[in-house]
Amino acid sequence: MTDPVVLPEFESFGDQTFKGLDNPEVATAATQALLNEERNSGQPVIDSPGENRLTLERGICRGGVWYREAEVRELTGADEEAIAAAGSNSAKVFETLLLRGVQTVGDEPMSQGLASELLIGDREYLVMAIRRATFGNDLEFEELPCPHCEELVDLTVPLDAIPFTRLDDPEQNEYFVPLRRGAVAFVRLPTGEDQAAILAIKGDNVARQDSEILRRCVLRIRHTDGTEVKNPPAVQLGMADRKAILRFLTETQPGPRYADFSFTHETCGKEVPLPISLAVLFRGM
Ligand SMILES: [Zn+2]
Repeated sequence: MTDPVVLPEFESFGDQTFKGLDNPEVATAATQALLNEERNSGQPVIDSPGENRLTLERGICRGGVWYREAEVRELTGADEEAIAAAGSNSAKVFETLLLRGVQTVGDEPMSQGLASELLIGDREYLVMAIRRATFGNDLEFEELPCPHCEELVDLTVPLDAIPFTRLDDPEQNEYFVPLRRGAVAFVRLPTGEDQAAILAIKGDNVARQDSEILRRCVLRIRHTDGTEVKNPPAVQLGMADRKAILRFLTETQPGPRYADFSFTHETCGKEVPLPISLAVLFRGM
């Protein structure tokens, strides 16, 4: 048996891209609890046909028709090697998972171009489906320390217990966000391509990353007098307006909210935040 691949803590899930991980020490504890867990005995996961299919929130549009059905597959040893070769770069690990684990979206085979076209939330939902196909539906935690009462908790988390945001109208690809002084911003939701552009900005400069996402996703601004500014420079937006738009983009993005998972500890009755990282999802690798 080969040594397990140690995956990096994953900080580029969509809802964390813009606001950072609030609770890094909790994430570390969660990963540790998984590492303590006895590894699976290598029993194959047997899925009934259809379990590797899922319906995306947005999907892709071809010739005016939306395609949302996608199919994933169980990862193999060859995939594991490819993922290990992606090293400690979490964005690269994520991309490798997607490109290898997703078979089709609509009738199209997975490709780099297709992956970059998908909404961040659809990409994250696909990764959840790959996880399910490979290791099953339950995340098992053992001896997770409760931050309130310090008791060690054993916990089973089904993937569908992770909060999930849906789109009201999957085909709506332009939204409006009210700004100060009666202005309105027309925006679109960020995709894999946008996410890659943000992650390419070096030096962890959050303000510059925010500017980049605004530059890409704000289509136009309409002022109260009816004038419209197309592709407004993000640096000219007021701070309150920038925040309002970023909050909207984060809250409206569909898909799993890995960072928002929490559970109630029965012994002490308190809520325990347990952000789910990529390392937690794919701990068997
Ligand atoms: Zn407790």
